[in-house]
Amino acid sequence: MDLTKRQELILEIVKAQGPITSEQIAEQLKLTRATLRPDLAILTMAGLLEARPRVGYYFSGKSPNRIVAQRLRRVKVGDIKSVPVVVRDDTSTHSAIITMFLEDVGTLFVVNEQGHLQGVVSRKDLLKVCVGGQDLHKLPIGVVMTRMPNVAMADPDETVWQAAKRLVSHEVDALPVVKPVQGPGGAVRYEVVGRLSKTNIARLFVELGEGD
Ligand code: ADP
Repeated sequence: MDLTKRQELILEIVKAQGPITSEQIAEQLKLTRATLRPDLAILTMAGLLEARPRVGYYFSGKSPNRIVAQRLRRVKVGDIKSVPVVVRDDTSTHSAIITMFLEDVGTLFVVNEQGHLQGVVSRKDLLKVCVGGQDLHKLPIGVVMTRMPNVAMADPDETVWQAAKRLVSHEVDALPVVKPVQGPGGAVRYEVVGRLSKTNIARLFVELGEGD
């Protein structure tokens, strides 16, 4: 967060002397209270200062970085996820490639007949089989995919920050957003309810940067 010279001065005064009234700050800066009002409003809204009636302003003790972190950790995966693009595991690799182009995504999620997550296919997986020279019409995508349980997933209720750490640690472009459901014999299976990609994160980054 960029502060003006005057806002930085106000912050210094409040840090050193708070709680302090706006009249006292104005006096020290040789300004009127009216001139200071927008600056005090910005510093309070940004969470750097706190104001108490009849007591005055005091420093919140939070650094701008900590405030950004707090705001970031409030955003849930479910708030920013995109629509998932899924294909059945018996779909041909040729058809999966066409889907990837038509849907304009870099990652496809593979499900079985019951709609349960089986795996993930990325662009590089498809490039690899293309150079392999196999008959793509006959090769099911289920053979090409990275399969469960090796798929990194995200929960709609977890924070974007937690899920983003998983994107980074697994070095992948997207995570299927899933909800656990009962599978055969009581086993846990996953229903795909969304897609969290690096693009979602970049979009959120831009929004936070704009101060929205
Ligand atoms: P790209 O192929 O475009 O580099 P990724 O980096 O996402 O895309 O994929 C790299 C490898 O990781 C591929 O083999 C892919 O199948 C696998 N992969 C992609 N997403 C996931 C995920 N969420 N969990 C586990 N593996 C994944």
